[in-house]
Amino acid sequence: MSSFITRFAPSPTGDLHRGHAYSALLAFEAARAAGGTFLLRIEDIDSTRSRPQFEAHILEDLAWLGLRWPEPVRRQSEHMADYEAALERLRSANLVYRCFRTRQEVAQAMASAPHGPMEAYQGAPLPTDEEAERLARGEPFAWRLSLAAALEHLGPRLPLTFLEEGSGPAGETGEIRARPALGGDVVLARKDVGVAYHLAVVVDDALQGVTHVIRGEDLFEAAHVQRLLQALLGLPTPVYRHHRLLTGPDGRRYAKRDRAETLRALRQAGGSPESLRRELGL
Ligand code: GLU
Repeated sequence: MSSFITRFAPSPTGDLHRGHAYSALLAFEAARAAGGTFLLRIEDIDSTRSRPQFEAHILEDLAWLGLRWPEPVRRQSEHMADYEAALERLRSANLVYRCFRTRQEVAQAMASAPHGPMEAYQGAPLPTDEEAERLARGEPFAWRLSLAAALEHLGPRLPLTFLEEGSGPAGETGEIRARPALGGDVVLARKDVGVAYHLAVVVDDALQGVTHVIRGEDLFEAAHVQRLLQALLGLPTPVYRHHRLLTGPDGRRYAKRDRAETLRALRQAGGSPESLRRELGL
């Protein structure tokens, strides 16, 4: 098996833009340079926002860019049992709790925390009888990691570190001390879809043998949270290479809302992958 495996992991909630092309090309070229493997993973757990036509467009756009990847592509929505198993491990170690709060209630709790506004939410399980009542009423709940329980559980294994071969938004590079508190009591299973981003990503990166995570620096903080989950689940930690984010002519980051800037629009307007690569400096 190759000792270098990386992945591009888009969510099919919109069409890809130049920023995605940059990220995908960096990962693809890094795999090629290392004689390794480039994987494509479709992060479609958010069934409320994912659309099959966006997935189809992603496959077309990446093939147009000249990227190739092994089939079958891993589609997160087809692997809910893997995420449920990971959640069960955390549940049986008493590291997660049910959270019935709405977004608004969470925001209020953060704003009115006794020691000043919280940066990341930390809550607590409900008393057993109240929880039983709410469950009996069929109230929806999310599963949250208990940061306090997690840190206590890891005890002597702290502090956690990871290797950053690229750089974070403030130029962070090299051996980084993880700050798991950045995520607070992070949601591991959403009320509506039964799993959440961080849990699915660490499970998949491990199951797919990903050795290098190459992605935008907007996900640098995510690495701190994901490092914690890797430690709790006994999963290996990949090397991280976060890259700068591209900005458009107006100086703003590319975003899915800018329709005119999509790769699809570029392709339909007769653009070529070669000129795009040149424009991206690749
Ligand atoms: N699916 C995430 C996104 O579209 C990327 C996840 C990752 O690279 O860890 O932004």
